[in-house]
Amino acid sequence: MAAKKTKEKKRDRSERRFLPQSATPPLVVKVTGALGAAGIGGGVTGQYLRPEAVPYSIWVLAGGALLLGAAIWIGTSGDPALRVGDAGVGVEKGGLRRLPWWGIDAVMWRASDGILTVSGKDEAGASLSLEIAQKNQAQAVAWIVKEARARIPKTCEVSDDGLAEIGKASRDAGLVMKLDPLQIVGHRCAASDKAIAWEPDGRVCPRCERVYHKDHVPQACACGGSLAVFHKKADEAAASESV
Ligand SMILES: [Zn+2]
Repeated sequence: MAAKKTKEKKRDRSERRFLPQSATPPLVVKVTGALGAAGIGGGVTGQYLRPEAVPYSIWVLAGGALLLGAAIWIGTSGDPALRVGDAGVGVEKGGLRRLPWWGIDAVMWRASDGILTVSGKDEAGASLSLEIAQKNQAQAVAWIVKEARARIPKTCEVSDDGLAEIGKASRDAGLVMKLDPLQIVGHRCAASDKAIAWEPDGRVCPRCERVYHKDHVPQACACGGSLAVFHKKADEAAASESV
């Protein structure tokens, strides 16, 4: 018999990182910035580069500095960067916190102000609710909804009208980043609550990343996804052992 595959290939995990977009049209930012720069230039010339200071040039300088400051301020949004991928929905706010797909209780779209709410529990079991504005994070919103509909369809409450407003998730959006393999040891089996002490004992739902102990894998995951593949593998292993 051919040599058995020594180790099953680890599933590649990845996620996309989305930077917030400024809600101010880029032209406004550019014009404000240009005026600011011109004011600083004129002010410096008037104040310091003439034999006698031109009256008011110090005010032109100060105004220019203010405008340039404003351009920098409105050009960058204070909203955090977001991550969307196999590990769930992550938010970069004083470190990285993630809502794994299995921890998400609700994904809701509010059309009135263009806000997507994602709420549930983070990896440590603490409640976390994210309100993501489409005007700042249009593609993150589209990707969260696309992934949530595929991974946790029962929890994703977005109507057809909502989907039309949210629009399509673009393959080119965000920066694709590789994720480390999921740490299984330390998790508790989602079906039996048994602690997973040894990695080969764990089975991971490919949709929501819920972890199960190999002896307690249900036919279907709580997310609705089929886990039949693990039962098939177990049967094959049993069959090959009995030969
Ligand atoms: Zn699942």
